[in-house]
Amino acid sequence: MSAPALLDNVRLPRWLLPADWPQRDGVPELARIAIEAGRVRSVQPATAESPPSAWNLDGALALPCFVDAHTHLDKAFTLPRMKQVQPGLLGAIDAMLADRVHWTPADVRERASRGLQWAWECGTSHLRTHVDWWEPESVPMAWPVMAELAQEWASRVRLEQVSLIKLPLFEDAAQAMRLARQVKATGPHALLGGFVHSTNWSENALRNLLVSAQACDLDIDLHVDEELNASAVGLQTTARILNEIGYQGRVVCGHICALAAQPEAQALATLDAVARAPITVVSLPATNLLLQDAVTGRTPRLRGITLVKEARERGIPLLFASDNVQDPFCRVGSFDPVEALGTAALVAQLDEPFDDWSQALCRGDWLRREAPAAQPTLVGQGADLVLFTQADRHGWPSRTAGRVVLREGRVTQGDPAPFLPR
Ligand SMILES: [Zn+2]
Repeated sequence: MSAPALLDNVRLPRWLLPADWPQRDGVPELARIAIEAGRVRSVQPATAESPPSAWNLDGALALPCFVDAHTHLDKAFTLPRMKQVQPGLLGAIDAMLADRVHWTPADVRERASRGLQWAWECGTSHLRTHVDWWEPESVPMAWPVMAELAQEWASRVRLEQVSLIKLPLFEDAAQAMRLARQVKATGPHALLGGFVHSTNWSENALRNLLVSAQACDLDIDLHVDEELNASAVGLQTTARILNEIGYQGRVVCGHICALAAQPEAQALATLDAVARAPITVVSLPATNLLLQDAVTGRTPRLRGITLVKEARERGIPLLFASDNVQDPFCRVGSFDPVEALGTAALVAQLDEPFDDWSQALCRGDWLRREAPAAQPTLVGQGADLVLFTQADRHGWPSRTAGRVVLREGRVTQGDPAPFLPR
């Protein structure tokens, strides 16, 4: 019974149900999900009579498998071999540079594979990793390793890789184009990326990055304004240049902590421009908490989370993701995006984490260049679902360790015993 034909009495989040779905006291009624040949055939309101062969979830929460939109598989699990790490983002970058002497293809492969395995076990089906890229003339050693892993894992986790290139390497337009071509040659799962920060700011270099991506028909994923410097203008400049060049792809802007430090009117005006651009925001609450306002021996005051509610209010697609795991940037983490949402729910004071904000872990369509679905649905999709055996909607994402993961309708993780027909 590891491949159910019917999941009955499933509690789906409100965002995944049509507007006319029946509710009781404002709470969506339970669902009956029919699965055929590994795909969801239908989602209907559950009725009193349950077919005897159905799995009875008895109100258990379910979500589509996760997208973890921003990770660093190349750096993961490097912390144990490091000595003292200076506080803050720039201190972590220095520690990472010193660790590079240990990097071999075998070392990167072992650590990245461990990360993919953990992602797979928690219910992630789509994971995007950044890969540090330091030299203009040579492809970093971790880059082809990640391309191999993308192939090896293709039937389990869809892996995308982003070139994390510091902005000054795009200062020269011809070099920017060479970098974009190298990324393009990697395959359709590769994206052009850059590290945009006030310490390396150049509008010319950012423009070259965006123009070269457009010329090579590449999507883009940037680390932007990961700082509390109110004068950081990476996000607003990105939105303006995308408009000027008529960019057709999708741009993910990660972090954008600086919005939290800027005068409110300026930050909101930037978000208004972002809402008119093909930009998806990715918030990384764990690393922001650890790296922003970080001074040894002093309690942090400013918490660095970007303006997630204001972004959502403007219809800007917004995802939460894991970012760094057990490396100098973040000592904790487990490649489980539910952890990121648990952190965000507290630091950003999110209402209805399950019924509303859980879509920030599931909306893979928000990473694609096509317009996102107006009303997401399970119907017609692969039956890739995470069933929570112990959580309820009030406490979620607490008590989410108990999970049953279905991939194409089959159990790949967890014990479905509580759901089986008796
Ligand atoms: Zn990152």
